[in-house]
Amino acid sequence: MVKNSKFIINILLVMVLLCQACGHSEEKTAVSGTSDSASCVLTSPEGNLRKDSESGLSSSTDRSSEDNADDDSSTTEISVNEEQENTEKETSDMTPEISSEDFYITTISDEIFARMKGKSYKDECNVPIEDLRYIHILHKDLEGSTKEGEMVCHEVIAQDLLEIFEELYLNNYPIERMVLVDDYDADDETSMTANNSSCFNYRCISHTTTISKHGLGIAVDINPLYNPYTKIVNGTRTVEPAAGAPYLDRDADFPYKIDENDLCYKLFIEHGFEWGGSWTNSKDYQHFEMPDSVAKELRAKYQ
Ligand SMILES: [Zn+2]
Repeated sequence: MVKNSKFIINILLVMVLLCQACGHSEEKTAVSGTSDSASCVLTSPEGNLRKDSESGLSSSTDRSSEDNADDDSSTTEISVNEEQENTEKETSDMTPEISSEDFYITTISDEIFARMKGKSYKDECNVPIEDLRYIHILHKDLEGSTKEGEMVCHEVIAQDLLEIFEELYLNNYPIERMVLVDDYDADDETSMTANNSSCFNYRCISHTTTISKHGLGIAVDINPLYNPYTKIVNGTRTVEPAAGAPYLDRDADFPYKIDENDLCYKLFIEHGFEWGGSWTNSKDYQHFEMPDSVAKELRAKYQ
């Protein structure tokens, strides 16, 4: 009986031990199960958010997540902008910049009109001064120095000219001189010989009472000494300015030359101008003008 009770106690002890061992193993399994489910809990919400976001089913939580995303991207934008700004600051000495203090269009002030009166704006001029504009720009010369430029033109091309000269400046395109033709007493030959770029100069087409496109302020001459006008008249070649004769050979290499690969040419054409270098009866390499249709409309208005 005692033996039996000892045997029973032993059996009970073994059972308890077995139960304990069993419990540990269950606990271990539970921990690893928890660990698995915990990792599942960690990944699952993100997955769900992404999924909902993609499907367009945004909850308020998703909205805030989107807002955060927006915040993050705006923060990124700011830092990118700051980087750009810093880069710009570093290169500002080398790269030309456009400022409204340097590049602007105004109506003709009394001061400017005083310079033009009796010169480019002759007494018989029937283009109202109110229809003309004064453009102030910066340009680069051949040595890369920055110079102030000014030009009077018709209001219909003022904005185009400003944009063209801004682009030329940004690209370091060389323009030797750009002052009002009045500084040369509105004498075209003298102004061209000085390689002065200009636009408005009231005059009629030779032997007619038709206002020329320069007279309307819708034609522009750029670096005229190196891009002369030429025509055969009665078997004789004329060149204007006369000092531009060495630059009639358009295959030769020289500074300021305008051809169809030239940035100045490309910009004027983009803005709707036509080039005198494309003419067949004569060549005017310095000359860009608005089409006849524009001139016709203005002439009808003024004559
Ligand atoms: Zn011209």
